[in-house]
Amino acid sequence: MQHYDGTDFPWSKEVVWNLKELFKLSKFRPLQLRAINMTLSGKDLFLVMPTGRGKSLCYQLPAVCSKGFTLVITPLVSLMEDQIMYLQLINVPAAMLNASISKNNAKAVMAGITDPKSPFKLLYVTPEKIAKSKLLMSCLEKAYKAKLLSRIAVDEVHCCSQWGHDFRPDYKLLGILKRQFPKVPLLGLTATATSSVLKDCEKILCVQQPITLSASFNRTNLYYEVQQNSNKCGVLTIIVCVCGLYTTGIVYVFSQKDAELVSSELQKRDILAYPYHANMDPDSKSRVHREWTANKIKVVVATVAFGMGIDKPDVRFVIHHTISKSIENYYQESGRAGRDDASADCIVFFGFSDIFRISTMVVMENVGQQKLLQMVDYCQNLDRCRRSLMAVHFDEVWDDEGCNQMCDTCCRVKDYSTVDITEHAKQVVQIMELAASMDEKLTPLKLVEAWMGKGPAKHRKTIKPTTLSRQQVEAVIVRMLLQGYLREDFSFTPYTTYFYMKLGRKAPLLKIQSHTLSMKMRITDGRSAVVSTCWSQGYITKSLNRCSPVCTPHLDRKKQKCRNFC
Ligand code: ADP
Ligand code: MG
Ligand code: ZN
Repeated sequence: MQHYDGTDFPWSKEVVWNLKELFKLSKFRPLQLRAINMTLSGKDLFLVMPTGRGKSLCYQLPAVCSKGFTLVITPLVSLMEDQIMYLQLINVPAAMLNASISKNNAKAVMAGITDPKSPFKLLYVTPEKIAKSKLLMSCLEKAYKAKLLSRIAVDEVHCCSQWGHDFRPDYKLLGILKRQFPKVPLLGLTATATSSVLKDCEKILCVQQPITLSASFNRTNLYYEVQQNSNKCGVLTIIVCVCGLYTTGIVYVFSQKDAELVSSELQKRDILAYPYHANMDPDSKSRVHREWTANKIKVVVATVAFGMGIDKPDVRFVIHHTISKSIENYYQESGRAGRDDASADCIVFFGFSDIFRISTMVVMENVGQQKLLQMVDYCQNLDRCRRSLMAVHFDEVWDDEGCNQMCDTCCRVKDYSTVDITEHAKQVVQIMELAASMDEKLTPLKLVEAWMGKGPAKHRKTIKPTTLSRQQVEAVIVRMLLQGYLREDFSFTPYTTYFYMKLGRKAPLLKIQSHTLSMKMRITDGRSAVVSTCWSQGYITKSLNRCSPVCTPHLDRKKQKCRNFC
Protein backbone atom coordinates (compact mmCIF):
# COMPACT_ATOMS: atom_id res chain seq x y z
CA MET A 1 0.00 0.00 0.00
CA GLN A 2 2.75 2.42 1.01
CA HIS A 3 4.05 2.26 -2.51
CA TYR A 4 0.93 4.14 -3.60
CA ASP A 5 1.89 7.15 -1.50
CA GLY A 6 4.80 7.81 -3.84
CA THR A 7 5.31 10.33 -6.58
CA ASP A 8 7.23 8.16 -9.03
CA PHE A 9 4.34 7.09 -11.23
CA PRO A 10 4.19 8.07 -14.89
CA TRP A 11 1.39 10.51 -14.02
CA SER A 12 2.91 11.92 -10.84
CA LYS A 13 4.33 15.12 -12.35
CA GLU A 14 1.00 15.98 -13.91
CA VAL A 15 -0.89 15.16 -10.70
CA VAL A 16 1.28 17.41 -8.58
CA TRP A 17 1.21 20.18 -11.14
CA ASN A 18 -2.58 20.12 -11.30
CA LEU A 19 -2.94 20.05 -7.53
CA LYS A 20 -1.00 23.29 -7.24
CA GLU A 21 -1.76 25.15 -10.43
CA LEU A 22 -5.30 24.07 -11.22
CA PHE A 23 -6.83 23.25 -7.84
CA LYS A 24 -4.63 25.80 -6.05
CA LEU A 25 -3.98 23.48 -3.11
CA SER A 26 -0.61 23.34 -1.42
CA LYS A 27 -0.55 19.67 -0.40
CA PHE A 28 -2.58 16.49 -0.22
CA ARG A 29 -4.59 15.58 2.83
CA PRO A 30 -4.18 12.08 4.33
CA LEU A 31 -5.06 9.29 1.86
CA GLN A 32 -5.77 11.58 -1.09
CA LEU A 33 -2.57 10.81 -2.95
CA ARG A 34 -2.86 7.09 -2.25
CA ALA A 35 -6.42 7.03 -3.56
CA ILE A 36 -5.48 9.02 -6.65
CA ASN A 37 -2.53 6.76 -7.46
CA MET A 38 -4.64 3.66 -6.98
CA THR A 39 -7.48 4.75 -9.18
CA LEU A 40 -5.03 5.94 -11.82
CA SER A 41 -3.49 2.44 -11.67
CA GLY A 42 -6.90 1.09 -12.67
CA LYS A 43 -7.92 -0.41 -9.32
CA ASP A 44 -11.48 -0.52 -8.04
CA LEU A 45 -11.58 1.42 -4.84
CA PHE A 46 -13.86 2.38 -1.97
CA LEU A 47 -12.70 5.52 -0.27
CA VAL A 48 -14.05 6.13 3.20
CA MET A 49 -13.28 9.53 4.59
CA PRO A 50 -15.14 11.80 6.98
CA THR A 51 -17.25 14.45 5.34
CA GLY A 52 -15.39 17.57 4.36
CA ARG A 53 -11.98 15.92 4.15
CA GLY A 54 -11.78 16.18 0.37
CA LYS A 55 -13.06 13.06 -1.33
CA SER A 56 -14.07 14.92 -4.50
CA LEU A 57 -10.49 15.76 -5.32
CA CYS A 58 -9.78 12.03 -5.54
CA TYR A 59 -11.81 11.75 -8.73
CA GLN A 60 -11.63 15.33 -10.01
CA LEU A 61 -7.86 15.35 -10.16
CA PRO A 62 -7.55 11.92 -11.87
CA ALA A 63 -10.25 13.02 -14.32
CA VAL A 64 -8.09 15.93 -15.42
CA CYS A 65 -5.06 13.65 -15.79
CA SER A 66 -6.86 11.00 -17.88
CA LYS A 67 -8.02 10.74 -21.50
CA GLY A 68 -11.74 10.99 -22.14
CA PHE A 69 -14.04 11.73 -19.23
CA THR A 70 -15.05 10.54 -15.78
CA LEU A 71 -18.64 9.62 -15.07
CA VAL A 72 -19.76 10.85 -11.63
CA ILE A 73 -22.94 9.60 -9.98
CA THR A 74 -24.27 12.04 -7.39
CA PRO A 75 -27.51 11.74 -5.44
CA LEU A 76 -28.54 15.37 -5.42
CA VAL A 77 -28.84 17.98 -8.14
CA SER A 78 -27.73 20.67 -5.71
CA LEU A 79 -24.47 18.82 -5.05
CA MET A 80 -23.93 18.54 -8.76
CA GLU A 81 -24.51 22.22 -9.33
CA ASP A 82 -22.08 23.16 -6.56
CA GLN A 83 -19.38 20.99 -8.08
CA ILE A 84 -19.95 22.23 -11.61
CA MET A 85 -19.80 25.81 -10.40
CA TYR A 86 -16.54 25.13 -8.62
CA LEU A 87 -15.03 23.33 -11.62
CA GLN A 88 -16.00 26.16 -13.95
CA LEU A 89 -14.29 28.56 -11.60
CA ILE A 90 -11.01 26.67 -11.94
CA ASN A 91 -11.48 26.09 -15.68
CA VAL A 92 -12.11 22.37 -15.66
CA PRO A 93 -14.77 21.57 -18.28
CA ALA A 94 -17.66 19.63 -16.72
CA ALA A 95 -21.24 18.82 -17.64
CA MET A 96 -24.32 17.35 -16.04
CA LEU A 97 -27.44 15.42 -16.90
CA ASN A 98 -30.48 15.61 -14.67
CA ALA A 99 -34.17 16.37 -14.84
CA SER A 100 -33.60 20.12 -14.51
CA ILE A 101 -31.58 20.82 -17.65
CA SER A 102 -33.11 21.76 -21.03
CA LYS A 103 -33.62 19.31 -23.89
CA ASN A 104 -31.14 21.10 -26.13
CA ASN A 105 -28.59 21.16 -23.41
CA ALA A 106 -29.07 17.45 -22.76
CA LYS A 107 -28.65 16.74 -26.48
CA ALA A 108 -25.35 18.59 -26.58
CA VAL A 109 -24.14 16.67 -23.54
CA MET A 110 -25.14 13.34 -25.09
CA ALA A 111 -23.18 14.28 -28.23
CA GLY A 112 -20.21 15.20 -26.04
CA ILE A 113 -20.10 11.74 -24.50
CA THR A 114 -19.14 10.13 -27.77
CA ASP A 115 -17.03 13.01 -29.07
CA PRO A 116 -13.40 11.81 -29.33
CA LYS A 117 -12.24 15.32 -28.39
CA SER A 118 -14.10 14.98 -25.03
CA PRO A 119 -15.50 18.48 -24.50
CA PHE A 120 -15.78 17.79 -20.75
CA LYS A 121 -13.55 15.98 -18.27
CA LEU A 122 -16.33 15.19 -15.81
CA LEU A 123 -19.93 14.22 -16.46
CA TYR A 124 -22.26 14.37 -13.45
CA VAL A 125 -25.45 12.35 -13.57
CA THR A 126 -28.10 11.33 -11.10
CA PRO A 127 -28.62 7.61 -10.49
CA GLU A 128 -32.13 8.00 -11.92
CA LYS A 129 -30.59 8.88 -15.28
CA ILE A 130 -28.57 5.69 -15.34
CA ALA A 131 -31.61 3.68 -14.33
CA LYS A 132 -34.04 5.27 -16.77
CA SER A 133 -32.26 6.70 -19.81
CA LYS A 134 -31.55 4.11 -22.49
CA LEU A 135 -30.11 6.86 -24.64
CA LEU A 136 -27.53 7.66 -21.98
CA MET A 137 -26.58 4.00 -21.63
CA SER A 138 -26.15 3.63 -25.36
CA CYS A 139 -23.94 6.73 -25.54
CA LEU A 140 -21.85 5.43 -22.63
CA GLU A 141 -21.58 2.09 -24.44
CA LYS A 142 -20.11 3.86 -27.47
CA ALA A 143 -17.77 5.90 -25.31
CA TYR A 144 -16.62 2.72 -23.58
CA LYS A 145 -15.81 1.06 -26.89
CA ALA A 146 -13.90 4.16 -27.99
CA LYS A 147 -12.01 4.12 -24.64
CA LEU A 148 -13.37 7.53 -23.71
CA LEU A 149 -14.94 6.46 -20.42
CA SER A 150 -11.90 6.70 -18.19
CA ARG A 151 -13.39 6.21 -14.74
CA ILE A 152 -16.65 5.87 -12.80
CA ALA A 153 -17.05 7.67 -9.48
CA VAL A 154 -20.05 6.84 -7.30
CA ASP A 155 -20.33 9.60 -4.76
CA GLU A 156 -22.14 8.97 -1.45
CA VAL A 157 -21.89 5.29 -2.30
CA HIS A 158 -23.57 4.24 0.98
CA CYS A 159 -26.87 5.30 -0.64
CA CYS A 160 -26.78 1.83 -2.29
CA SER A 161 -27.34 0.08 0.98
CA GLN A 162 -30.46 -0.15 3.02
CA TRP A 163 -28.20 -0.45 6.03
CA GLY A 164 -26.80 3.01 5.40
CA HIS A 165 -28.42 6.13 6.75
CA ASP A 166 -29.49 7.51 3.42
CA PHE A 167 -30.73 4.70 1.20
CA ARG A 168 -31.85 5.73 -2.28
CA PRO A 169 -33.65 3.13 -4.41
CA ASP A 170 -32.07 4.23 -7.70
CA TYR A 171 -28.63 3.46 -6.34
CA LYS A 172 -29.64 -0.19 -6.19
CA LEU A 173 -29.56 -0.35 -9.98
CA LEU A 174 -26.03 0.95 -10.44
CA GLY A 175 -24.60 -2.55 -10.72
CA ILE A 176 -25.29 -2.21 -14.42
CA LEU A 177 -22.25 0.06 -14.74
CA LYS A 178 -19.66 -2.48 -13.72
CA ARG A 179 -21.47 -5.22 -15.64
CA GLN A 180 -21.49 -3.22 -18.87
CA PHE A 181 -18.14 -1.50 -18.43
CA PRO A 182 -16.01 -4.03 -16.57
CA LYS A 183 -12.68 -2.52 -17.60
CA VAL A 184 -13.43 0.94 -16.25
CA PRO A 185 -12.10 1.51 -12.72
CA LEU A 186 -14.78 2.37 -10.22
CA LEU A 187 -14.31 4.65 -7.25
CA GLY A 188 -16.95 4.62 -4.53
CA LEU A 189 -16.87 7.49 -2.02
CA THR A 190 -18.55 7.75 1.33
CA ALA A 191 -18.19 8.92 4.90
CA THR A 192 -20.00 5.85 6.23
CA ALA A 193 -17.52 3.26 7.29
CA THR A 194 -19.56 0.40 8.74
CA SER A 195 -18.32 -2.78 7.13
CA SER A 196 -21.82 -4.18 6.62
CA VAL A 197 -22.74 -1.14 4.54
CA LEU A 198 -19.57 -1.42 2.47
CA LYS A 199 -20.05 -5.14 1.86
CA ASP A 200 -23.57 -4.44 0.71
CA CYS A 201 -22.39 -1.68 -1.66
CA GLU A 202 -19.76 -3.99 -3.10
CA LYS A 203 -22.44 -6.55 -3.98
CA ILE A 204 -24.90 -4.02 -5.35
CA LEU A 205 -22.29 -2.33 -7.53
CA CYS A 206 -20.94 -5.68 -8.75
CA VAL A 207 -17.33 -4.77 -8.01
CA GLN A 208 -15.08 -7.66 -7.21
CA GLN A 209 -12.87 -7.26 -4.18
CA PRO A 210 -12.35 -3.53 -4.27
CA ILE A 211 -9.60 -2.06 -2.15
CA THR A 212 -11.04 -0.10 0.74
CA LEU A 213 -9.13 2.93 1.94
CA SER A 214 -10.40 4.26 5.25
CA ALA A 215 -9.29 7.46 6.84
CA SER A 216 -9.75 7.63 10.59
CA PHE A 217 -13.22 8.77 11.56
CA ASN A 218 -11.74 10.64 14.49
CA ARG A 219 -12.15 14.38 14.16
CA THR A 220 -9.57 15.40 16.72
CA ASN A 221 -10.57 19.05 16.77
CA LEU A 222 -14.21 18.43 17.70
CA TYR A 223 -15.30 18.50 21.32
CA TYR A 224 -18.33 16.27 21.99
CA GLU A 225 -20.77 16.79 24.82
CA VAL A 226 -24.19 15.51 25.82
CA GLN A 227 -26.52 17.67 27.89
CA GLN A 228 -29.57 16.41 29.72
CA ASN A 229 -32.54 18.27 28.38
CA SER A 230 -34.62 18.37 31.50
CA ASN A 231 -35.65 21.95 31.31
CA LYS A 232 -36.43 23.70 28.03
CA CYS A 233 -35.54 27.09 29.42
CA GLY A 234 -32.10 25.84 30.35
CA VAL A 235 -31.57 24.47 26.85
CA LEU A 236 -32.23 27.82 25.29
CA THR A 237 -29.95 29.55 27.75
CA ILE A 238 -27.11 27.26 26.88
CA ILE A 239 -27.74 27.70 23.17
CA VAL A 240 -27.75 31.47 23.58
CA CYS A 241 -24.52 31.26 25.52
CA VAL A 242 -22.75 29.12 22.94
CA CYS A 243 -23.99 31.42 20.17
CA GLY A 244 -22.49 34.27 22.14
CA LEU A 245 -19.13 32.58 22.39
CA TYR A 246 -18.61 31.93 18.70
CA THR A 247 -19.01 33.49 15.30
CA THR A 248 -20.96 30.90 13.38
CA GLY A 249 -22.81 27.64 13.86
CA ILE A 250 -25.76 25.36 13.29
CA VAL A 251 -28.57 24.36 15.63
CA TYR A 252 -30.30 21.17 14.50
CA VAL A 253 -33.91 20.74 15.56
CA PHE A 254 -36.50 18.00 15.12
CA SER A 255 -39.26 19.73 13.19
CA GLN A 256 -40.13 22.69 11.05
CA LYS A 257 -42.07 24.11 13.96
CA ASP A 258 -39.07 23.82 16.26
CA ALA A 259 -36.89 25.51 13.63
CA GLU A 260 -39.19 28.50 13.60
CA LEU A 261 -39.66 28.53 17.35
CA VAL A 262 -36.02 28.30 18.31
CA SER A 263 -34.85 30.79 15.70
CA SER A 264 -37.40 33.35 16.82
CA GLU A 265 -36.36 32.84 20.45
CA LEU A 266 -32.75 33.43 19.44
CA GLN A 267 -33.72 36.52 17.45
CA LYS A 268 -35.46 37.90 20.53
CA ARG A 269 -32.09 37.65 22.24
CA ASP A 270 -30.36 39.59 19.46
CA ILE A 271 -28.79 36.60 17.76
CA LEU A 272 -28.90 36.59 13.98
CA ALA A 273 -30.57 33.22 13.54
CA TYR A 274 -32.73 31.97 10.69
CA PRO A 275 -34.74 28.79 10.25
CA TYR A 276 -34.13 26.27 7.46
CA HIS A 277 -36.39 23.33 6.66
CA ALA A 278 -37.69 21.30 3.76
CA ASN A 279 -40.95 23.20 3.47
CA MET A 280 -39.38 26.54 2.67
CA ASP A 281 -39.38 27.65 -0.95
CA PRO A 282 -36.11 26.97 -2.77
CA ASP A 283 -35.24 30.68 -2.99
CA SER A 284 -35.50 31.27 0.74
CA LYS A 285 -33.51 28.14 1.38
CA SER A 286 -30.67 29.12 -0.87
CA ARG A 287 -30.74 32.68 0.52
CA VAL A 288 -30.32 31.44 4.08
CA HIS A 289 -27.56 29.09 2.99
CA ARG A 290 -25.79 31.83 1.04
CA GLU A 291 -26.00 34.50 3.72
CA TRP A 292 -24.88 32.10 6.39
CA THR A 293 -21.91 31.05 4.25
CA ALA A 294 -21.03 34.74 3.84
CA ASN A 295 -21.30 35.25 7.64
CA LYS A 296 -24.26 37.60 7.29
CA ILE A 297 -26.30 35.15 9.34
CA LYS A 298 -24.75 33.74 12.45
CA VAL A 299 -26.83 30.67 13.16
CA VAL A 300 -28.98 28.44 11.00
CA VAL A 301 -31.66 26.68 13.01
CA ALA A 302 -32.34 23.75 10.76
CA THR A 303 -33.93 20.40 10.34
CA VAL A 304 -31.78 17.71 8.78
CA ALA A 305 -32.88 19.10 5.41
CA PHE A 306 -29.85 21.35 5.91
CA GLY A 307 -27.29 18.76 5.09
CA MET A 308 -25.52 17.57 2.03
CA GLY A 309 -23.56 20.20 0.21
CA ILE A 310 -22.75 22.38 3.20
CA ASP A 311 -19.12 23.27 2.87
CA LYS A 312 -18.48 26.11 5.29
CA PRO A 313 -15.05 25.58 6.82
CA ASP A 314 -15.32 27.74 9.96
CA VAL A 315 -18.45 26.38 11.66
CA ARG A 316 -17.57 26.70 15.35
CA PHE A 317 -20.47 24.77 16.87
CA VAL A 318 -23.16 22.29 15.97
CA ILE A 319 -25.85 22.01 18.61
CA HIS A 320 -28.51 19.34 18.50
CA HIS A 321 -31.63 20.64 20.17
CA THR A 322 -32.97 17.08 19.77
CA ILE A 323 -30.95 13.87 19.41
CA SER A 324 -30.23 12.50 15.93
CA LYS A 325 -31.91 9.36 14.74
CA SER A 326 -28.69 7.33 14.72
CA ILE A 327 -25.04 7.62 15.65
CA GLU A 328 -24.09 7.77 11.97
CA ASN A 329 -26.47 10.66 11.47
CA TYR A 330 -25.10 12.38 14.53
CA TYR A 331 -21.56 11.90 13.35
CA GLN A 332 -22.39 13.36 9.94
CA GLU A 333 -24.38 16.29 11.27
CA SER A 334 -21.96 17.25 14.01
CA GLY A 335 -19.12 16.72 11.56
CA ARG A 336 -20.09 19.91 9.76
CA ALA A 337 -18.26 21.73 12.54
CA GLY A 338 -14.58 22.58 12.37
CA ARG A 339 -13.76 21.64 8.80
CA ASP A 340 -10.93 24.16 8.95
CA ASP A 341 -9.27 21.97 11.60
CA ALA A 342 -9.64 24.65 14.29
CA SER A 343 -11.48 23.49 17.40
CA ALA A 344 -15.26 23.41 17.49
CA ASP A 345 -17.99 22.26 19.89
CA CYS A 346 -20.64 19.61 19.25
CA ILE A 347 -23.36 19.51 21.85
CA VAL A 348 -26.42 17.32 21.84
CA PHE A 349 -29.40 17.79 24.13
CA PHE A 350 -30.92 14.55 25.27
CA GLY A 351 -34.56 14.68 26.33
CA PHE A 352 -36.83 11.82 27.36
CA SER A 353 -39.80 12.72 25.18
CA ASP A 354 -37.59 13.29 22.13
CA ILE A 355 -36.85 9.59 21.99
CA PHE A 356 -40.47 8.86 21.25
CA ARG A 357 -40.92 11.72 18.82
CA ILE A 358 -38.09 10.33 16.73
CA SER A 359 -39.19 6.77 17.28
CA THR A 360 -42.54 7.38 15.61
CA MET A 361 -40.73 9.08 12.75
CA VAL A 362 -38.36 6.19 12.01
CA VAL A 363 -40.96 3.49 12.61
CA MET A 364 -41.07 2.58 8.92
CA GLU A 365 -37.34 2.14 8.58
CA ASN A 366 -36.03 -1.40 8.79
CA VAL A 367 -33.56 -0.93 11.57
CA GLY A 368 -34.78 2.50 12.60
CA GLN A 369 -35.55 1.62 16.21
CA GLN A 370 -32.34 -0.26 16.70
CA LYS A 371 -30.27 2.65 15.43
CA LEU A 372 -32.20 5.16 17.47
CA LEU A 373 -31.63 3.15 20.63
CA GLN A 374 -27.90 3.10 19.90
CA MET A 375 -28.01 6.89 19.78
CA VAL A 376 -29.95 6.94 23.06
CA ASP A 377 -27.37 4.65 24.59
CA TYR A 378 -24.64 7.04 23.41
CA CYS A 379 -26.44 9.88 25.18
CA GLN A 380 -27.17 8.02 28.40
CA ASN A 381 -23.59 6.87 28.71
CA LEU A 382 -21.78 8.43 31.65
CA ASP A 383 -18.50 6.62 31.81
CA ARG A 384 -17.08 5.96 28.39
CA CYS A 385 -15.31 8.33 26.05
CA ARG A 386 -17.77 9.56 23.43
CA ARG A 387 -15.23 8.87 20.74
CA SER A 388 -14.86 5.27 21.85
CA LEU A 389 -18.59 4.81 21.37
CA MET A 390 -18.40 6.21 17.87
CA ALA A 391 -15.33 4.12 17.12
CA VAL A 392 -17.18 0.90 17.93
CA HIS A 393 -19.77 2.05 15.52
CA PHE A 394 -17.32 2.66 12.73
CA ASP A 395 -15.45 -0.60 13.38
CA GLU A 396 -12.37 1.33 14.35
CA VAL A 397 -9.93 0.12 16.96
CA TRP A 398 -9.83 2.80 19.60
CA ASP A 399 -7.49 3.92 22.31
CA ASP A 400 -9.01 6.41 24.77
CA GLU A 401 -5.81 8.45 24.73
CA GLY A 402 -6.81 9.54 21.24
CA CYS A 403 -9.57 11.71 22.66
CA ASN A 404 -7.19 14.11 24.31
CA GLN A 405 -9.84 15.33 26.77
CA MET A 406 -12.04 16.43 23.91
CA CYS A 407 -15.32 14.95 25.13
CA ASP A 408 -17.40 15.55 28.23
CA THR A 409 -16.89 12.12 29.76
CA CYS A 410 -13.12 12.36 29.46
CA CYS A 411 -13.12 15.90 30.88
CA ARG A 412 -15.46 15.37 33.73
CA VAL A 413 -14.62 14.12 37.18
CA LYS A 414 -15.94 10.62 37.72
CA ASP A 415 -19.12 11.61 39.50
CA TYR A 416 -21.27 8.55 38.89
CA SER A 417 -21.83 5.29 40.65
CA THR A 418 -23.43 1.99 39.78
CA VAL A 419 -26.88 1.77 41.30
CA ASP A 420 -28.99 -1.36 41.72
CA ILE A 421 -32.33 -0.55 40.08
CA THR A 422 -33.95 -3.98 40.36
CA GLU A 423 -36.65 -2.86 42.79
CA HIS A 424 -37.38 0.22 40.71
CA ALA A 425 -37.70 -1.87 37.58
CA LYS A 426 -40.11 -4.21 39.36
CA GLN A 427 -42.34 -1.25 40.18
CA VAL A 428 -42.36 -0.22 36.54
CA VAL A 429 -43.35 -3.74 35.55
CA GLN A 430 -46.16 -3.68 38.09
CA ILE A 431 -47.56 -0.48 36.62
CA MET A 432 -47.40 -1.96 33.15
CA GLU A 433 -49.10 -5.16 34.25
CA LEU A 434 -51.84 -3.24 35.99
CA ALA A 435 -52.52 -1.21 32.85
CA ALA A 436 -52.52 -4.35 30.73
CA SER A 437 -55.03 -5.99 33.07
CA MET A 438 -57.36 -3.07 32.41
CA ASP A 439 -56.66 -3.38 28.72
CA GLU A 440 -55.05 0.04 28.64
CA LYS A 441 -51.93 1.24 26.95
CA LEU A 442 -49.54 3.66 28.62
CA THR A 443 -47.57 6.34 26.84
CA PRO A 444 -44.08 6.95 28.24
CA LEU A 445 -45.35 10.12 29.87
CA LYS A 446 -48.29 8.32 31.52
CA LEU A 447 -45.90 5.70 32.81
CA VAL A 448 -43.62 8.34 34.31
CA GLU A 449 -46.55 10.08 35.94
CA ALA A 450 -48.12 6.95 37.35
CA TRP A 451 -44.80 5.94 38.86
CA MET A 452 -44.39 9.38 40.41
CA GLY A 453 -47.84 9.22 41.93
CA LYS A 454 -49.54 11.54 39.47
CA GLY A 455 -52.30 11.08 36.90
CA PRO A 456 -55.26 8.68 37.16
CA ALA A 457 -55.27 6.79 40.46
CA LYS A 458 -56.29 3.54 38.78
CA HIS A 459 -52.89 3.35 37.10
CA ARG A 460 -51.01 3.26 40.39
CA LYS A 461 -53.16 1.29 42.78
CA THR A 462 -50.59 -1.43 43.31
CA ILE A 463 -47.47 0.66 43.99
CA LYS A 464 -46.22 3.43 46.23
CA PRO A 465 -44.99 6.57 44.43
CA THR A 466 -41.28 6.36 43.75
CA THR A 467 -38.75 8.38 45.69
CA LEU A 468 -36.64 8.94 42.60
CA SER A 469 -36.47 12.35 40.95
CA ARG A 470 -38.13 12.85 37.60
CA GLN A 471 -34.79 12.77 35.86
CA GLN A 472 -33.93 9.48 37.53
CA VAL A 473 -37.34 8.04 36.73
CA GLU A 474 -36.83 8.86 33.08
CA ALA A 475 -33.32 7.48 33.17
CA VAL A 476 -34.49 4.15 34.62
CA ILE A 477 -37.23 3.83 31.99
CA VAL A 478 -34.75 4.57 29.23
CA ARG A 479 -32.38 1.98 30.66
CA MET A 480 -35.17 -0.60 30.73
CA LEU A 481 -35.99 0.22 27.12
CA LEU A 482 -32.36 -0.11 26.07
CA GLN A 483 -31.98 -3.43 27.87
CA GLY A 484 -35.17 -4.99 26.58
CA TYR A 485 -37.24 -4.92 29.78
CA LEU A 486 -39.54 -2.50 28.03
CA ARG A 487 -40.24 -2.09 24.37
CA GLU A 488 -42.08 0.17 22.01
CA ASP A 489 -45.58 -0.38 20.79
CA PHE A 490 -46.85 1.73 17.92
CA SER A 491 -50.41 2.49 17.02
CA PHE A 492 -51.33 4.04 13.71
CA THR A 493 -54.16 6.40 12.92
CA PRO A 494 -54.66 8.04 9.52
CA TYR A 495 -53.08 11.23 10.91
CA THR A 496 -50.39 10.23 13.29
CA THR A 497 -48.47 7.44 14.93
CA TYR A 498 -48.76 6.91 18.66
CA PHE A 499 -46.05 5.52 20.83
CA TYR A 500 -46.89 3.30 23.79
CA MET A 501 -44.82 1.27 26.18
CA LYS A 502 -45.01 -2.46 26.36
CA LEU A 503 -43.22 -5.06 28.46
CA GLY A 504 -40.11 -6.29 26.70
CA ARG A 505 -38.79 -9.81 26.24
CA LYS A 506 -36.63 -9.55 29.36
CA ALA A 507 -39.42 -8.37 31.69
CA PRO A 508 -40.18 -11.90 33.01
CA LEU A 509 -36.62 -12.10 34.34
CA LEU A 510 -37.57 -9.59 37.01
CA LYS A 511 -39.81 -12.24 38.59
CA ILE A 512 -36.75 -14.32 39.37
CA GLN A 513 -35.48 -13.64 42.87
CA SER A 514 -31.80 -13.65 42.02
CA HIS A 515 -32.07 -11.46 38.92
CA THR A 516 -30.68 -7.96 39.31
CA LEU A 517 -30.46 -4.92 37.12
CA SER A 518 -28.17 -1.96 37.59
CA MET A 519 -27.18 1.23 35.88
CA LYS A 520 -24.79 4.10 36.24
CA MET A 521 -26.21 7.27 37.69
CA ARG A 522 -24.72 10.63 38.53
CA ILE A 523 -24.20 11.11 42.22
CA THR A 524 -23.80 14.84 42.02
CA ASP A 525 -25.49 17.19 39.64
CA GLY A 526 -22.06 18.36 38.56
CA ARG A 527 -21.76 20.97 35.92
CA SER A 528 -20.57 19.92 32.55
CA ALA A 529 -18.10 21.88 30.53
CA VAL A 530 -20.53 23.89 28.49
CA VAL A 531 -22.76 24.70 31.43
CA SER A 532 -19.72 25.85 33.36
CA THR A 533 -18.82 28.32 30.69
CA CYS A 534 -22.36 29.60 30.44
CA TRP A 535 -22.24 30.01 34.17
CA SER A 536 -18.97 31.85 34.26
CA GLN A 537 -20.13 34.13 31.48
CA GLY A 538 -23.14 35.05 33.55
CA TYR A 539 -25.65 33.38 31.23
CA ILE A 540 -26.92 30.95 33.79
CA THR A 541 -28.38 32.02 37.05
CA LYS A 542 -28.86 29.82 40.06
CA SER A 543 -32.60 29.58 39.55
CA LEU A 544 -32.17 28.10 36.10
CA ASN A 545 -29.57 25.57 36.87
CA ARG A 546 -28.93 24.37 40.33
CA CYS A 547 -25.48 22.94 40.23
CA SER A 548 -23.09 21.77 42.80
CA PRO A 549 -19.68 23.22 42.10
CA VAL A 550 -17.73 20.48 40.46
CA CYS A 551 -14.55 21.54 38.80
CA THR A 552 -14.34 20.59 35.15
CA PRO A 553 -11.67 22.19 33.04
CA HIS A 554 -13.73 23.39 30.15
CA LEU A 555 -13.47 25.58 27.12
CA ASP A 556 -10.26 26.71 28.67
CA ARG A 557 -9.06 23.17 28.33
CA LYS A 558 -6.33 24.33 26.03
CA LYS A 559 -4.99 26.62 28.69
CA GLN A 560 -5.44 23.71 31.11
CA LYS A 561 -6.98 25.79 33.80
CA CYS A 562 -10.41 25.94 35.26
CA ARG A 563 -12.67 28.89 34.71
CA ASN A 564 -15.34 27.76 37.13
CA PHE A 565 -16.35 29.35 40.35
CA CYS A 566 -15.12 26.55 42.48
P1 ADP B 1 -16.07 15.43 1.01
O1 ADP B 1 -16.65 15.04 -0.32
O2 ADP B 1 -15.07 14.46 1.51
O3 ADP B 1 -17.11 15.74 2.01
P2 ADP B 1 -15.11 17.69 -0.46
O4 ADP B 1 -14.48 16.95 -1.54
O5 ADP B 1 -16.42 18.34 -0.75
O6 ADP B 1 -15.27 16.79 0.83
O7 ADP B 1 -14.06 18.77 0.06
C1 ADP B 1 -14.30 19.57 1.18
C2 ADP B 1 -13.39 20.79 1.16
O8 ADP B 1 -12.04 20.42 1.37
C3 ADP B 1 -13.43 21.55 -0.16
O9 ADP B 1 -13.60 22.91 0.11
C4 ADP B 1 -12.08 21.29 -0.76
O10 ADP B 1 -11.65 22.34 -1.56
C5 ADP B 1 -11.21 21.12 0.46
N1 ADP B 1 -10.00 20.33 0.17
C6 ADP B 1 -9.95 19.15 -0.46
N2 ADP B 1 -8.67 18.69 -0.55
C7 ADP B 1 -7.90 19.61 0.08
C8 ADP B 1 -6.50 19.73 0.34
N3 ADP B 1 -5.64 18.78 -0.06
N4 ADP B 1 -6.08 20.82 1.00
C9 ADP B 1 -6.94 21.77 1.41
N5 ADP B 1 -8.26 21.74 1.19
C10 ADP B 1 -8.76 20.67 0.54
MG1 MG C 1 -18.53 14.79 -1.05
ZN1 ZN D 1 -13.28 11.26 25.28
